[in-house]
Formats: sequence, C-alpha cells, structure tokens
Amino acid sequence: MKVVGFDLDDTIYLHWDYEKILFDTIAKSIEYKFGFEKEKVFAEMQKLFDAKDFDRLFDKAVINSKYELPEEWDEFVTSKILPFYRNHKPDSKLKPFEWVNVLLSQIREKGCKLVLITNGGAKIQRNKIELLNLSNHFDKIYISDEFNPPMRKPDLKIFEKVLEDFNVKANEMIYIGDSMEKDGACEKLGIKFLLFSDYKKLYEILDIAQ
Ligand SMILES: [Mg+2]
Repeated sequence: MKVVGFDLDDTIYLHWDYEKILFDTIAKSIEYKFGFEKEKVFAEMQKLFDAKDFDRLFDKAVINSKYELPEEWDEFVTSKILPFYRNHKPDSKLKPFEWVNVLLSQIREKGCKLVLITNGGAKIQRNKIELLNLSNHFDKIYISDEFNPPMRKPDLKIFEKVLEDFNVKANEMIYIGDSMEKDGACEKLGIKFLLFSDYKKLYEILDIAQ
C-alpha cells in the first residue's frame, strides 16, 4: 500500500461531539429569539442527527417540538443559524478516537502517504481538523466542497483525484470510513475499503507491529 486514506466524521472522531456544541448554542438562540424551550428543540435536533436526517434539520426540530414556524423563521435561519453553523469555530478541543494518533504515526513511519477525504463545507471541515489537531498527520486533505463543482462521495471523482495526485494505482490505496454507501464506493475503482471499526486489520495489511 502506498496511500492510506481516512474519512473524517464518525471515522476519526465522534461526529456528535462537534455537532452538539453548535446545536446547543443554536437551540439557545432559538429560545432567546422565539421563546421555544431549548431542551426540547435540542433533543429533537439530536434525534434528527442520529437518524441522519440533515435536510432542513432546524425547521424539523422546531416542528417536531410542537411549535409552529414563526413568520420570521426563514430569515432567522438564513441570516443567523446557517452562517453560525457553517463558520463558528467552538473554543473546546475535540478528541479523536483513542487509537487514531498512534496508528497514523505508525502508518507514516511505514512510509505510506496519508490522506483525509471528507464530505462537507470547507470552513466547517477545516474547523474540525484544527480542533482535532490533525493537519500535521496528513500529506493532503480533500474536502468535497473545496472543489468546484463539489466532489462528494459516493461519487468517485475525489478518489480518482487522489490516485492521480499521488500517481498510484487503485490497488495501491486503502480507504477507511464508516459509511459502506459513501466511503465504500471507492471499491468500485479497486481501492481497498475498510470499515473504521475494523481498523485493527490495518496492522496486518500494512505489516505494522501492534
Ligand atoms: Mg463519516
């Protein structure tokens, strides 16, 4: 293997750890503006997040909390909630899963190139990477929305770009992620795929001593 790729959210760290910080502030701002109970709205946000129901998540959280969307709602979402959600960098640090830092160093020592391939907005994903203190581990970071047009997994373009950038064949790369559908799509190109929960198999595949 010459290139080892990792997905970010729910592969390297628990995605909810980041989201809950933003949701908490958003729920507070909704309470402050409209008087909707923040605990209720926050609980509904969490349910939607767990169900991966991200489309108009904030609208649905309010509706599911049995409140009616106020007239100024759309304006509030567009001018306040979404810019905050997309750009705000929380003060608190994020923690990668406990195995991550050691394994990434070992992969590097083995002489493999390390890449991060993640779907999402440029700012929000960059914020996470900084809070996780990850940038030094990776030779290159690929964020879907930094490309024009965006290259979002399961579309294979972003994987093809990695192969091209590092001038390697598909069978010289392995990719680790949490989503069979989005991350596992790389197998169609011949890139080996591993679920993050099977990360220990990397020791064998890359011949690294545990
Ligand atoms: Mg993921």
